[in-house]
Amino acid sequence: MKHENSARFARQLDKADPLKAYRSKFHIPKINGKRSHYFTGNSLGLQPKTTNSYIQDELKDWAQLGVEGHLHGKRPWLYYHHFTKKALAAIVGAKPIEVVAMHQLTVNLHLMMISFYQPTPTRYKIIMEAGAFPSDQYAVETQIKFHGFDPGEALIELEPRAGEHALRTEDILAAIHQHKDQLALVLFSGVQYYTGQFFDIRSITQAGHQAGAYVGFDLAHAVGNVPLQLHRDQVDFAVWCSYKYLNSGPGSVAGAFVHEKHAHKSNLPRLAGWWGHNEKERFLMQKGFKPIPGIDGWQLSNFPVLAGAPHLASLEIFQEAGMKVLRKKSLLLTGYLEFLLKEIDPVENHFTILTPADPKQRGCQLSLFFHRNGKRIFQALTKAGVIGDWREPNVIRVAPVPLYNSFMDVYSFASVLQKALR
Ligand SMILES: *Cc1c(COP(=O)(O)O)cnc(C)c1O
Repeated sequence: MKHENSARFARQLDKADPLKAYRSKFHIPKINGKRSHYFTGNSLGLQPKTTNSYIQDELKDWAQLGVEGHLHGKRPWLYYHHFTKKALAAIVGAKPIEVVAMHQLTVNLHLMMISFYQPTPTRYKIIMEAGAFPSDQYAVETQIKFHGFDPGEALIELEPRAGEHALRTEDILAAIHQHKDQLALVLFSGVQYYTGQFFDIRSITQAGHQAGAYVGFDLAHAVGNVPLQLHRDQVDFAVWCSYKYLNSGPGSVAGAFVHEKHAHKSNLPRLAGWWGHNEKERFLMQKGFKPIPGIDGWQLSNFPVLAGAPHLASLEIFQEAGMKVLRKKSLLLTGYLEFLLKEIDPVENHFTILTPADPKQRGCQLSLFFHRNGKRIFQALTKAGVIGDWREPNVIRVAPVPLYNSFMDVYSFASVLQKALR
């Protein structure tokens, strides 16, 4: 399709958008009494209007039933995590036994590494992308130290080639091959939080396995954003949070995936709690941990129902809309943003887009690196009603989300940016 830099064209795209009805299902924040142009769904997704009633249901059951809510609530609390499985499985391309909502992202990453990072004196290295999200860096650093190894030697961090912003898949695969005799774990982002690069999960997993290593992914910026096929791609484990593209509210319950091939390995090393114990025997209160087969066997504590309620409200919307349709609009929406940005600054005089130009290698986010005045431009955007995201040293991340962002949002962003640059 040939794009145009005009409000008329953006309105046309909105009119033809099969997902246009979804925007009104969300609360859009206001700036100075006016509806903002919200581009930070990559940081905190917007609140569905149904969230309130999902939380009210649980407050009501708690008030009226007390402890009986565990069994007799509208959605019995004892089984609450089961209610998340179907939607999560569809979103990440998995089977229900492979996914569950539990804990928080970094906690889940540690739990997964306890099971899938088992270094030996000869095989102890971890490969990950350089500049990973700090929490992941800290988790990896401390896991390596926990096992008595030196992060300076055990951790291999891959940088893009000089003058490039994204990693080339061929370089990732070559590095995995190069370290194959000492490699214990390959751990990558699904979508890189800073550059917006969507890594080739299938190829990286295949290469990791050929090298004799486990392969895991942090899907914080991928889940609900890009198509995923974790089961088919043979990924060993994955973790994610639910408050970014999954719109489940600040600090809400996270999620995790363990491939079915590991579902019945009850001897995998792990840290356990009673919620991961055989459900039929959980309340016998006996010694001897017997893990539930599949990811449920990694649950430690009883489910945080008041965080789960907004998660369910949001997952219902994802089930209804479907990732296929969402991705289709997302490609168009971000493609339109990219087109407008190139119109504004054709020779990269003001900024460079760090995110790969190939739509298959990105989600909805574009990361703009400003050559100068980045902070001032960001402030001008905010003043004009654009909610974006600033990252040091000079980057504005813009994430048009197909569920609630419109083509007019994208057009407005571009025209405000154009004015700010002048
Ligand atoms: C958002 C994000 C986190 C946040 O971790 P929490 O445990 O949810 O606080 C961690 N890693 C990545 C890659 C993220 O994008």
